[in-house]
Amino acid sequence: MIFTQEHNEIRRTVKNFVENEINPYCDEWEKAGEFPMKEMFKKLGDLGLLGISKPTEYGGMGLDYSYNIVAAEEFGAAHCGGVPLAIGVQTDMCTPALARFGSNELREEFLAQSISGDMIGCIGVSEPSAGSDVAAIKTTAKKDGDDYVINGTKMWITNSPKADYICLLANTSDDKVHLNKSLIVVPMNTPGIEVAPRLNKLGMRSSETAQVFFDNVRIPQRYRIGAEGSGFMMQMLQFQEERLFGAANILKGLEQCVDQTIDYCRERQTFGQPLLDNQVIHFRLAELQTEIEALRCMVYQGVEGYINKKDVTMLASMAKLKAGRLGREVADSCLQYWGGMGYMWENPVSRAMRDIRLVSIGGGADEIMLGIICKLMGTLPKKKK
Ligand SMILES: Cc1cc2nc3c(=O)[nH]c(=O)nc-3n(C[C@H](O)[C@H](O)[C@H](O)COP(=O)(O)OP(=O)(O)OC[C@H]3O[C@@H](n4cnc5c(N)ncnc54)[C@H](O)[C@@H]3O)c2cc1C
Repeated sequence: MIFTQEHNEIRRTVKNFVENEINPYCDEWEKAGEFPMKEMFKKLGDLGLLGISKPTEYGGMGLDYSYNIVAAEEFGAAHCGGVPLAIGVQTDMCTPALARFGSNELREEFLAQSISGDMIGCIGVSEPSAGSDVAAIKTTAKKDGDDYVINGTKMWITNSPKADYICLLANTSDDKVHLNKSLIVVPMNTPGIEVAPRLNKLGMRSSETAQVFFDNVRIPQRYRIGAEGSGFMMQMLQFQEERLFGAANILKGLEQCVDQTIDYCRERQTFGQPLLDNQVIHFRLAELQTEIEALRCMVYQGVEGYINKKDVTMLASMAKLKAGRLGREVADSCLQYWGGMGYMWENPVSRAMRDIRLVSIGGGADEIMLGIICKLMGTLPKKKK
């Protein structure tokens, strides 16, 4: 990928934002289990960072997705994963389908305000009994006159406690499971919606994740994104951006793990020499740095294909799989060299280890990525009829 002056400017803007507006407060927000989203999203909106690759008609910068990925990479330098996750939900998880397939009216009402930072969005796909198996969701949106009436429960919904709307995947007919779903934008203040207290997570502590209940929630059908029944397809497309974002977003955090471990091992002495002088340690750190760079290449290759309108399902799935696996490997290996210090809750590598663990689970677990890759390789056994 060739980076332009504009890429570098976005990189610099995000870097400054992370250094001044996020990192000084991470410890406080991690303890509090939340961060001031509304204020931060407004600041991000004012800088244009919530709509880098979104259409200019709705306040976006109208740049291609490579500019977005540069921002995703830089947000990953935050000293906590929760804040970039919350930002990614807004930019790459709950708005791509709206931007691409939403009606002008819908984009005016929700997309423009998400880009400006005046609205917070969340994405509602997973349910208590359906996470990996998206087609098995049970939430229904039944037609009643010009409205839909929604019933069901969404689980693990990030940003939901502070969200103004949810981009909801629901069954809108009794057709086959891949043809009966629609994405619908639902304002969170609609009567019948209840957000449970936030969940107590292993990591990503500064972001808020909760269960959301829908009890006879009435919403005009014009809040549906695109054609009825195309929700599954749109969500699968939307996942491409989520997966590329996830892989790009992890890179800087992993590099920080390696750098901080180098610094620590240079200072820490055992048996009369710095830990770092043990070949097993400096070789291992070099190996990890090499793997991180390989992941970066894969992400850039995926993004290059994506902006050239190629099908990058394979590369996006591979990048997401590699990011999850490598994230666990880097965090665990680095933590080892911190010894007892690494086992402390406040240790930066220990926080990274907890935060990064999500990458192998959320947005399609490792095994789901492997399934997609196998399908495209032609090695997935056919389902018996
Ligand atoms: C912190 C956090 C934030 C989240 N935010 C959101 C959000 O904002 N919106 C949203 O919609 N969802 C969100 N999720 C949900 C997330 O996407 C799901 O947890 C994920 O898709 C896995 O689904 P599941 O938990 O139901 O696991 P299951 O589907 O029950 O699977 C459990 C495990 O089994 C394995 N597995 C599953 N299927 C197979 C298979 N076919 N072959 C082999 N192994 C398999 C995988 O290892 C998987 O991790 C979030 C989750 C977390 C933890």
